[in-house]
Amino acid sequence: MNKFEQLGLNELLLLAVKDLGFENPSEVQEKAIPMLLEADIDIVALAQTGTGKTAAFGFPLIQKIDAENRNTQALILAPTRELCLQITNELKLYSKYVKGLDVVAVYGGASITDQARQIKRGAQIIVATPGRMQDMINRKLVNISQIDFCVLDEADEMLNMGFYEDMVAILSETPDTKNTWLFSATMPAEVARIAKEFMRHPAEITVGTRNSGSATVSHEFYMVQARDRYEALKRLADANPDIFSVVFCRTKRDTQQIAEKLIEDGYNAAALHGDLSQAQRDGVMKSFRGRQIQMLVATDVAARGIDVDNITHVVNYQLPDEIETYNHRSGRTGRAGKLGTSIVIITKSELRKIHAIEKIIKQKFEEKTIPSGMEICE
Ligand code: ADP
Ligand code: MG
Repeated sequence: MNKFEQLGLNELLLLAVKDLGFENPSEVQEKAIPMLLEADIDIVALAQTGTGKTAAFGFPLIQKIDAENRNTQALILAPTRELCLQITNELKLYSKYVKGLDVVAVYGGASITDQARQIKRGAQIIVATPGRMQDMINRKLVNISQIDFCVLDEADEMLNMGFYEDMVAILSETPDTKNTWLFSATMPAEVARIAKEFMRHPAEITVGTRNSGSATVSHEFYMVQARDRYEALKRLADANPDIFSVVFCRTKRDTQQIAEKLIEDGYNAAALHGDLSQAQRDGVMKSFRGRQIQMLVATDVAARGIDVDNITHVVNYQLPDEIETYNHRSGRTGRAGKLGTSIVIITKSELRKIHAIEKIIKQKFEEKTIPSGMEICE
């Protein structure tokens, strides 16, 4: 008997677990699933990216939903459209043997009337970005006044992205009787505030230490002159021909420019940022998942929460403004126990920031030197 069978999940969900190939529950799943199945409670769960939070709330949610009732019963809020789609797809896999259960993704950049129609047709679970959800509520296209569950996924990131007002407005449309499940990688003051204002005596689950980085990720920095940043990136790519990476830039403009330069210079690269259409973003993600793209140059917002297996390197082409964002970035690699490398390209003046990050991730960076042209040719 594997441990999934001891968590209290029903047969239909255990079949799905088997199809997914999950052998043992992750720590957050082991803690959250029985708790959520057993009682109608609010919870705050803190766990790093890549620890399996989607299944930790997804399985109990599906088990608790009444699939024979076609009313909207649960709302999941997530920070980006990519994440909404990812969660929706996961939930569809989890519920594949549960007849009559429907999940709809609600996010900007796609037809709001189509989404409203899907809800009307009887989706019990809505997975939404706060912006689009608020829009739907304003237009009276959705009714969440009777829901039983509200999940806030990546709550820290939703708040970082300035969704506080939308979240408050949305939560105030939901009944007091619902249960709220908040999932987050970190616990900044704003998350604590949401928990305090909108949750009732939430149970707390913490996996690992707060803010600690993943032990399977090693951190390296390369110190260069500001004008050599791009050259350094190319050298890194040349030195790692099998690189499969996300390259983070600070602005949409830099993201676009670096991607264009890489493509011009013959690398398999593409840009992912908010100025692209939804269809373009979906296309880029599809190529990246399919490995036609080796270097996905992205903004933090666009890459948030994206779960792609076997990313070998995260490259911080520029350090993020907020140090906490570094955790989210490096969490793209080293997932599911695999090894990964998080690389930072810095100029001398940024060395202070490296030391500040070391304190947060409780890991040391290794200083590396950019491989010279000669070494690469050898
Ligand atoms: P998080 O939301 O914590 O960042 P995800 O829910 O996106 O993490 O899961 C990360 C990856 O781990 C996904 O590819 C998921 O399919 C996989 N995963 C989740 N739970 C398990 C498990 N129990 N066994 C193996 N893989 C798992
Ligand atoms: Mg997640």
